[in-house]
Amino acid sequence: MGLPEPPEAGASALPQGTFVGETVIVTGGGTGLGKAMAVEFARLGAAVAILSRKEEHRAAGVAAVEAVGARALGVACDIRQPDAVATAFDAVESALGPPGVLVNNAAGNFPVPAEDMSPNAWRTVVDIVLNGTFHCAREFARRQIAAGAPGSIINIGASYAWTGGPGFAHSAAAKAGVKNMTETLAVEWAPYGIRVNCLVPGLMPHEDEAAAIRGVPERGQREAARAPAGRVGQPRELGWAATFLASPYAAYISGHTLVVDGANWQRRAMLMPEFTPIREQLGKGPFEA
Ligand code: NAP
Repeated sequence: MGLPEPPEAGASALPQGTFVGETVIVTGGGTGLGKAMAVEFARLGAAVAILSRKEEHRAAGVAAVEAVGARALGVACDIRQPDAVATAFDAVESALGPPGVLVNNAAGNFPVPAEDMSPNAWRTVVDIVLNGTFHCAREFARRQIAAGAPGSIINIGASYAWTGGPGFAHSAAAKAGVKNMTETLAVEWAPYGIRVNCLVPGLMPHEDEAAAIRGVPERGQREAARAPAGRVGQPRELGWAATFLASPYAAYISGHTLVVDGANWQRRAMLMPEFTPIREQLGKGPFEA
């Protein structure tokens, strides 16, 4: 039987209008899970700003938010650049008002055996996932602290922060940093009324998946059978978790990492399946220096 299907799109556990008058920034909110979270905030009344590099991504996010009747703004920003982050926050503030919620969702990722990974690939993923998350969180907190305003930050993590992630050494290490940073910032900024949590999605297929992720052998096949839940997650389930964590109903929750994956990451077999090296899993030939 597995875990039940979630309520239909458009449903919410939070009262209507929970985020009316609130501005929410979602980095990478024009695609996939970021877009799904942006839409759930919008349904609850938030004005949503989408920060990302590509115009077509921002336009898709803005359209999705506007389609549920909320105000939206796309702002060009590479979160690896602290100055660009500050400029983008200025643009959000002047168009939609100061943000009270920040969702650090933007990420870069692709599978590669560690011995094949270039220093540039390592640097790029860590720069987006770990450094970018810090630049945005810092910018948000400095403004809230100066204004004496409370706020909520949600950092999007990944379960290989705990387990390691063969094929994803760069992203797994960066996400471990994001989870750890969440815990530090939650303590440092609670006195200012700023909550900081981490939210971990499980397997939630979506139409915007990057080619490198979609191209992982057997990705998209028999996904439901490979999870204890007997199903994959729906992006809106992450959106519901994000809106709850940012809401007043989670006012005493900070420094927490919430995993929305149907217990997939805790699965173990009594006897593990035969071991397959990551090169083989990715369909790579022998290593060539
Ligand atoms: P996605 O579709 O690949 O989206 C990534 C987003 O980040 C894009 O909108 C991209 O927009 C933006 N981005 C990338 N680099 C950026 C930069 N330097 N500055 C600003 N924006 C940047 O990812 P997703 O699958 O929805 O995943 C969303 C989050 O969930 C990520 O944090 C991911 O690590 C996490 N996660 C996903 C899964 C999953 O199964 N999908 C599982 C675990 C964790 P531009 O290209 O326009 O910049």
